[in-house]
Amino acid sequence: MLARTMQTQAQHKRVWGFFTSSLLLVVCLVHTSCAPLRTAGTHRTDCTLKRYEYASVQMGSRCSIVLFAESEEIAANAADHAFDAISDVNRALSDYQPSSESMRSTSRNHNQWISITPLFTQVLVRSKEMFKHSNGAFDPTVGAYTHLWRTAIKENRVPTEDEIRHASELVGFRNVHLDAIGNRVMFKHASMILDFGAIGKGFAADRAMRVLQTHGIRSALVNIGGDIVIGDPPPDFPDGWLISVQVIDGEQWSSRMHSVAIATSGDSERYFISDGVRYSHIIDPRTGYGVQNQNTVTVIASNGSTADAVASVVAVLGAQIVPKFKAQYTDLKVFVDSGQSQ
Ligand code: ADP
Ligand code: MG
Repeated sequence: MLARTMQTQAQHKRVWGFFTSSLLLVVCLVHTSCAPLRTAGTHRTDCTLKRYEYASVQMGSRCSIVLFAESEEIAANAADHAFDAISDVNRALSDYQPSSESMRSTSRNHNQWISITPLFTQVLVRSKEMFKHSNGAFDPTVGAYTHLWRTAIKENRVPTEDEIRHASELVGFRNVHLDAIGNRVMFKHASMILDFGAIGKGFAADRAMRVLQTHGIRSALVNIGGDIVIGDPPPDFPDGWLISVQVIDGEQWSSRMHSVAIATSGDSERYFISDGVRYSHIIDPRTGYGVQNQNTVTVIASNGSTADAVASVVAVLGAQIVPKFKAQYTDLKVFVDSGQSQ
């Protein structure tokens, strides 16, 4: 945090303007007055809607839902169900809870098909796609590494080379076989650990937004620890929600947007320094070590799971991978702050 705080404003501007931090601050101007009913693009604006905001802790992060609804009853009911959807995702994916579907399934016998829920199948399908497009830079089987690092950091040390080598035997999404139609998975090794930290929050935000939509809520924003999914614009702001990216040294970039997702990845808040080397919580699966490039990446995509995962991939591989992803996901915008001091 300190190192980034000490970067100069000029440096931020040189890298990519002022869109530079992992701290996302979301602002939707308070809905004060009612403009005449009008149509903006395909979005119907409706001044009978009121703004409601709900907050909770979900997936170990602060989570907020802002939505426009006709009544508090409708709003609270929709938000409750959306929070439930996020909890469901956490119950399936958490690598902190031994009872999660992910932890339970990897603890079962390997080399045999295991029935899984459609939700877990969907996350694995998206993960497989990201693993493929990133040439393995995105890989939830890095759980073997992340758990090793968690233990080592508690002991204030970097894992030994032997420990990394040992863990590497359990890493590689190619060892996860998926039967997406039959909702089944097979793990090629015993004791693999899946860590969905780089896609889970975006995936959960997508699901929460879909739940709000089934309750008739169209103008809404779901923010899970900086992974943000936004729906239709607020009634009085047809250009969209005002999204600000707050830079640690005080700079801020703002823009109105709607019907997109935003995610940020980087080590500005989570890293470990040992012998002068700074290791990110984002692991390079090729080495087993936390990346040291200090890239901070912000991605705008059509959905949360894509934004979340792509941000993590670019944090590992750097800006050179961006053209490949842009070809794959045409509506993608990626901003990279290299974080280097030269
Ligand atoms: P944050 O969790 O801060 O939003 P990210 O979305 O970038 O940040 O996810 C980082 C998390 O993803 C790590 O804390 C870890 O749990 C997991 N992870 C680390 N390296 C990888 C990787 N190469 N591929 C997939 N997941 C990873
Ligand atoms: Mg991510």
